[in-house]
Amino acid sequence: MAREAAVIKDVAGIYRPGSAHMVGDGFPVRNLFPSNDLDRQVDPFLLLDYAGPHQFPGTDQPRGVGEHPHRGFETVTIMYQGAVAHRDSAGNAGVIGPGDVQWMTAASGIVHEEMHEPNWATHGGTFQAIQLWVNLPQAKKMLSPGYQTLLNADIPTVELDGGIGRLRVIAGAFQGRSGPARTVTPIELYDLELLADRPVEVRLPDGYNTSIFAVRGRVAVNGSHEAGEADLIVCTRKGSLITINAQVESRLLVMSGKPLEEPIARYGPFVMNTKAELIQAVEDYQAGRMGHLS
Ligand code: MN
Repeated sequence: MAREAAVIKDVAGIYRPGSAHMVGDGFPVRNLFPSNDLDRQVDPFLLLDYAGPHQFPGTDQPRGVGEHPHRGFETVTIMYQGAVAHRDSAGNAGVIGPGDVQWMTAASGIVHEEMHEPNWATHGGTFQAIQLWVNLPQAKKMLSPGYQTLLNADIPTVELDGGIGRLRVIAGAFQGRSGPARTVTPIELYDLELLADRPVEVRLPDGYNTSIFAVRGRVAVNGSHEAGEADLIVCTRKGSLITINAQVESRLLVMSGKPLEEPIARYGPFVMNTKAELIQAVEDYQAGRMGHLS
Protein backbone atom coordinates (compact mmCIF):
# COMPACT_ATOMS: atom_id res chain seq x y z
CA MET A 1 0.00 0.00 0.00
CA ALA A 2 1.39 3.35 -0.98
CA ARG A 3 1.93 5.61 1.97
CA GLU A 4 0.65 9.10 1.46
CA ALA A 5 3.34 11.69 1.95
CA ALA A 6 2.53 13.47 5.20
CA VAL A 7 2.66 17.25 5.31
CA ILE A 8 5.06 18.58 7.92
CA LYS A 9 3.49 20.37 10.86
CA ASP A 10 5.79 23.38 11.07
CA VAL A 11 7.15 25.06 14.18
CA ALA A 12 5.40 28.44 14.53
CA GLY A 13 7.37 29.60 17.58
CA ILE A 14 9.29 28.63 20.70
CA TYR A 15 8.37 30.32 23.99
CA ARG A 16 9.94 30.67 27.42
CA PRO A 17 7.77 30.95 30.55
CA GLY A 18 6.06 34.37 30.44
CA SER A 19 5.56 34.70 34.19
CA ALA A 20 6.40 33.00 37.49
CA HIS A 21 4.39 33.03 40.71
CA MET A 22 3.22 30.95 43.68
CA VAL A 23 -0.18 29.25 43.55
CA GLY A 24 -1.22 29.02 47.20
CA ASP A 25 1.83 28.03 49.25
CA GLY A 26 2.50 24.72 47.48
CA PHE A 27 2.93 25.38 43.78
CA PRO A 28 5.79 27.58 42.55
CA VAL A 29 4.79 27.79 38.89
CA ARG A 30 6.17 29.13 35.64
CA ASN A 31 3.40 29.95 33.19
CA LEU A 32 3.70 29.26 29.44
CA PHE A 33 0.20 30.39 28.50
CA PRO A 34 -1.85 32.54 28.67
CA SER A 35 1.17 34.69 29.61
CA ASN A 36 2.62 34.40 26.10
CA ASP A 37 -0.63 35.53 24.36
CA LEU A 38 -1.06 32.25 22.49
CA ASP A 39 -4.86 31.87 22.83
CA ARG A 40 -5.62 31.19 19.17
CA GLN A 41 -2.54 28.98 18.68
CA VAL A 42 -3.21 26.73 21.69
CA ASP A 43 -7.06 26.62 21.60
CA PRO A 44 -8.64 24.37 23.11
CA PHE A 45 -5.94 24.62 25.81
CA LEU A 46 -6.21 27.68 28.06
CA LEU A 47 -3.39 27.58 30.57
CA LEU A 48 -0.14 25.72 31.20
CA ASP A 49 1.50 26.11 34.61
CA TYR A 50 4.75 24.24 35.20
CA ALA A 51 5.29 23.68 38.93
CA GLY A 52 8.84 23.08 40.14
CA PRO A 53 11.02 21.15 40.17
CA HIS A 54 11.20 22.53 43.68
CA GLN A 55 12.57 21.05 46.90
CA PHE A 56 10.14 21.27 49.84
CA PRO A 57 11.27 20.55 53.41
CA GLY A 58 9.10 18.21 55.48
CA THR A 59 6.20 19.82 57.36
CA ASP A 60 3.20 18.89 59.48
CA GLN A 61 1.30 21.95 58.22
CA PRO A 62 -1.13 21.69 55.28
CA ARG A 63 0.46 23.10 52.13
CA GLY A 64 -1.13 23.80 48.76
CA VAL A 65 -4.10 25.82 47.58
CA GLY A 66 -7.26 25.84 49.68
CA GLU A 67 -10.91 26.01 48.68
CA HIS A 68 -11.42 27.87 45.38
CA PRO A 69 -13.89 27.64 42.47
CA HIS A 70 -13.72 26.84 38.76
CA ARG A 71 -16.34 27.00 35.99
CA GLY A 72 -16.36 26.45 32.24
CA PHE A 73 -13.34 24.18 31.62
CA GLU A 74 -11.26 21.23 32.87
CA THR A 75 -8.10 21.17 34.97
CA VAL A 76 -5.63 18.40 34.12
CA THR A 77 -2.80 17.81 36.60
CA ILE A 78 0.14 15.68 35.45
CA MET A 79 2.47 14.55 38.25
CA TYR A 80 6.18 13.98 37.74
CA GLN A 81 7.44 14.10 41.34
CA GLY A 82 5.58 14.50 44.64
CA ALA A 83 1.94 13.85 45.47
CA VAL A 84 -1.25 15.93 45.41
CA ALA A 85 -4.52 15.31 47.22
CA HIS A 86 -7.69 16.77 45.75
CA ARG A 87 -11.27 16.98 47.01
CA ASP A 88 -14.19 18.91 45.62
CA SER A 89 -17.76 20.02 46.27
CA ALA A 90 -19.13 17.38 43.88
CA GLY A 91 -17.97 14.78 46.42
CA ASN A 92 -14.94 13.59 44.46
CA ALA A 93 -11.53 13.06 46.02
CA GLY A 94 -8.26 11.45 44.99
CA VAL A 95 -4.50 11.33 45.42
CA ILE A 96 -2.08 11.42 42.49
CA GLY A 97 1.62 10.61 42.54
CA PRO A 98 4.43 10.28 39.97
CA GLY A 99 3.08 9.16 36.58
CA ASP A 100 -0.56 9.75 37.58
CA VAL A 101 -2.93 12.31 36.06
CA GLN A 102 -5.99 13.99 37.53
CA TRP A 103 -8.61 15.09 35.00
CA MET A 104 -11.17 17.33 36.67
CA THR A 105 -14.13 18.65 34.71
CA ALA A 106 -15.30 21.78 36.48
CA ALA A 107 -18.01 22.44 33.85
CA SER A 108 -20.98 24.18 35.61
CA GLY A 109 -18.88 24.80 38.69
CA ILE A 110 -17.15 23.25 41.64
CA VAL A 111 -15.03 24.38 44.53
CA HIS A 112 -12.01 22.26 45.33
CA GLU A 113 -8.72 22.19 47.17
CA GLU A 114 -5.37 20.97 45.83
CA MET A 115 -2.92 20.13 48.59
CA HIS A 116 0.40 18.36 48.94
CA GLU A 117 -0.60 14.88 50.06
CA PRO A 118 -0.04 14.97 53.85
CA ASN A 119 2.11 11.85 54.10
CA TRP A 120 4.39 13.06 51.30
CA ALA A 121 4.47 16.56 52.81
CA THR A 122 5.63 15.16 56.17
CA HIS A 123 8.82 13.91 54.52
CA GLY A 124 9.07 16.59 51.85
CA GLY A 125 11.05 16.18 48.66
CA THR A 126 11.14 17.36 45.09
CA PHE A 127 7.82 18.51 43.66
CA GLN A 128 7.27 18.66 39.90
CA ALA A 129 3.93 18.79 38.05
CA ILE A 130 2.06 20.44 35.21
CA GLN A 131 -1.43 21.87 35.36
CA LEU A 132 -3.11 22.22 31.99
CA TRP A 133 -6.52 23.83 31.54
CA VAL A 134 -8.66 22.43 28.74
CA ASN A 135 -11.53 24.59 27.51
CA LEU A 136 -15.07 23.31 27.09
CA PRO A 137 -17.25 24.34 24.15
CA GLN A 138 -20.11 26.74 24.86
CA ALA A 139 -22.68 23.92 24.61
CA LYS A 140 -20.86 21.88 27.30
CA LYS A 141 -19.74 24.52 29.80
CA MET A 142 -22.76 24.05 32.07
CA LEU A 143 -22.75 20.25 32.20
CA SER A 144 -22.40 18.54 35.58
CA PRO A 145 -18.86 18.37 36.98
CA GLY A 146 -16.78 15.23 36.64
CA TYR A 147 -13.55 13.75 37.95
CA GLN A 148 -11.14 11.11 36.65
CA THR A 149 -8.08 9.78 38.45
CA LEU A 150 -5.84 8.27 35.75
CA LEU A 151 -3.29 6.11 37.50
CA ASN A 152 0.14 5.44 36.04
CA ALA A 153 -0.75 1.74 35.72
CA ASP A 154 -3.83 2.57 33.62
CA ILE A 155 -1.95 4.79 31.15
CA PRO A 156 -0.71 2.61 28.27
CA THR A 157 2.95 2.82 27.33
CA VAL A 158 3.98 2.42 23.69
CA GLU A 159 7.61 1.32 23.40
CA LEU A 160 8.91 3.13 20.32
CA ASP A 161 10.46 1.14 17.49
CA GLY A 162 14.20 0.67 17.77
CA GLY A 163 14.24 1.22 21.53
CA ILE A 164 14.38 5.01 21.07
CA GLY A 165 12.05 5.79 23.94
CA ARG A 166 8.48 5.43 25.09
CA LEU A 167 5.21 7.28 24.74
CA ARG A 168 2.48 7.16 27.38
CA VAL A 169 -0.99 7.82 25.98
CA ILE A 170 -2.94 9.91 28.50
CA ALA A 171 -5.67 10.92 26.03
CA GLY A 172 -6.36 10.10 22.39
CA ALA A 173 -4.48 7.28 20.68
CA PHE A 174 -1.00 6.46 19.41
CA GLN A 175 -0.08 3.42 17.27
CA GLY A 176 -3.42 1.82 18.08
CA ARG A 177 -3.23 2.28 21.85
CA SER A 178 -5.88 4.50 23.44
CA GLY A 179 -5.47 6.62 26.54
CA PRO A 180 -7.85 6.31 29.50
CA ALA A 181 -9.01 9.94 29.65
CA ARG A 182 -12.56 10.62 28.57
CA THR A 183 -12.41 14.00 26.83
CA VAL A 184 -15.26 16.30 25.83
CA THR A 185 -13.68 17.37 22.54
CA PRO A 186 -10.92 15.58 20.59
CA ILE A 187 -7.63 15.80 22.54
CA GLU A 188 -4.33 13.97 22.15
CA LEU A 189 -2.10 14.13 25.23
CA TYR A 190 1.18 12.20 25.39
CA ASP A 191 3.99 11.88 27.92
CA LEU A 192 7.02 11.22 25.70
CA GLU A 193 10.46 10.10 26.87
CA LEU A 194 13.26 9.96 24.31
CA LEU A 195 16.86 8.80 24.27
CA ALA A 196 19.49 11.04 22.67
CA ASP A 197 20.05 11.20 18.92
CA ARG A 198 17.24 8.86 17.85
CA PRO A 199 14.66 10.91 15.94
CA VAL A 200 10.99 10.00 16.33
CA GLU A 201 8.11 10.89 14.03
CA VAL A 202 4.82 11.82 15.65
CA ARG A 203 1.68 12.23 13.53
CA LEU A 204 -1.14 14.42 14.77
CA PRO A 205 -4.31 15.47 12.99
CA ASP A 206 -4.09 18.19 10.35
CA GLY A 207 -6.02 21.19 11.69
CA TYR A 208 -5.33 20.49 15.37
CA ASN A 209 -3.43 22.98 17.46
CA THR A 210 -0.32 21.22 18.73
CA SER A 211 2.36 22.26 21.19
CA ILE A 212 5.17 20.43 22.93
CA PHE A 213 6.49 21.32 26.38
CA ALA A 214 10.01 20.26 27.31
CA VAL A 215 9.88 18.98 30.89
CA ARG A 216 13.51 17.85 30.73
CA GLY A 217 16.33 17.74 28.21
CA ARG A 218 16.93 19.41 24.87
CA VAL A 219 15.32 18.65 21.51
CA ALA A 220 15.40 19.73 17.88
CA VAL A 221 11.99 19.77 16.21
CA ASN A 222 11.67 19.35 12.44
CA GLY A 223 15.44 19.51 12.08
CA SER A 224 16.41 22.98 13.17
CA HIS A 225 14.12 24.36 15.89
CA GLU A 226 15.87 23.80 19.23
CA ALA A 227 14.20 23.90 22.61
CA GLY A 228 15.34 23.18 26.15
CA GLU A 229 13.96 22.71 29.64
CA ALA A 230 10.70 24.67 30.26
CA ASP A 231 10.41 25.77 26.62
CA LEU A 232 7.13 25.47 24.72
CA ILE A 233 7.26 24.58 21.04
CA VAL A 234 4.11 25.77 19.25
CA CYS A 235 3.30 24.19 15.89
CA THR A 236 1.08 25.28 13.04
CA ARG A 237 -2.46 23.90 12.70
CA LYS A 238 -1.69 22.82 9.17
CA GLY A 239 0.20 19.61 8.58
CA SER A 240 0.47 16.39 10.54
CA LEU A 241 4.06 15.17 10.77
CA ILE A 242 6.45 16.32 13.50
CA THR A 243 9.99 14.97 13.81
CA ILE A 244 11.61 15.24 17.23
CA ASN A 245 15.28 14.58 17.81
CA ALA A 246 16.39 14.60 21.42
CA GLN A 247 19.92 15.93 21.84
CA VAL A 248 20.10 14.54 25.36
CA GLU A 249 17.73 12.16 27.12
CA SER A 250 14.47 14.19 27.23
CA ARG A 251 10.90 14.16 28.51
CA LEU A 252 8.16 16.04 26.67
CA LEU A 253 4.45 16.70 27.06
CA VAL A 254 2.74 16.65 23.67
CA MET A 255 -0.61 18.47 23.60
CA SER A 256 -2.88 18.46 20.56
CA GLY A 257 -6.54 19.33 20.21
CA LYS A 258 -9.24 20.37 17.80
CA PRO A 259 -9.65 24.14 18.18
CA LEU A 260 -13.02 25.32 19.51
CA GLU A 261 -12.81 28.74 17.79
CA GLU A 262 -15.25 30.36 20.20
CA PRO A 263 -14.90 33.66 22.05
CA ILE A 264 -12.98 33.38 25.35
CA ALA A 265 -13.93 35.46 28.39
CA ARG A 266 -11.68 34.88 31.43
CA TYR A 267 -11.81 36.05 34.99
CA GLY A 268 -9.44 34.21 37.35
CA PRO A 269 -10.80 30.69 37.87
CA PHE A 270 -13.72 31.15 35.45
CA VAL A 271 -13.53 30.81 31.65
CA MET A 272 -16.73 31.47 29.73
CA ASN A 273 -17.70 32.94 26.35
CA THR A 274 -19.11 36.31 27.42
CA LYS A 275 -18.60 38.90 30.16
CA ALA A 276 -22.22 38.42 31.29
CA GLU A 277 -21.50 34.72 31.87
CA LEU A 278 -18.44 35.66 33.98
CA ILE A 279 -20.55 37.99 36.13
CA GLN A 280 -23.06 35.17 36.56
CA ALA A 281 -20.22 32.80 37.55
CA VAL A 282 -18.99 35.17 40.26
CA GLU A 283 -22.57 35.61 41.54
CA ASP A 284 -23.19 31.86 41.57
CA TYR A 285 -19.94 31.22 43.43
CA GLN A 286 -20.61 33.95 45.99
CA ALA A 287 -24.15 32.64 46.53
CA GLY A 288 -22.75 29.17 47.25
CA ARG A 289 -24.26 27.62 44.12
CA MET A 290 -20.97 25.87 43.28
CA GLY A 291 -21.19 24.07 46.61
CA HIS A 292 -18.73 23.84 49.50
CA LEU A 293 -16.21 21.36 50.78
CA SER A 294 -17.60 19.28 53.59
MN1 MN B 1 -7.93 24.60 41.06
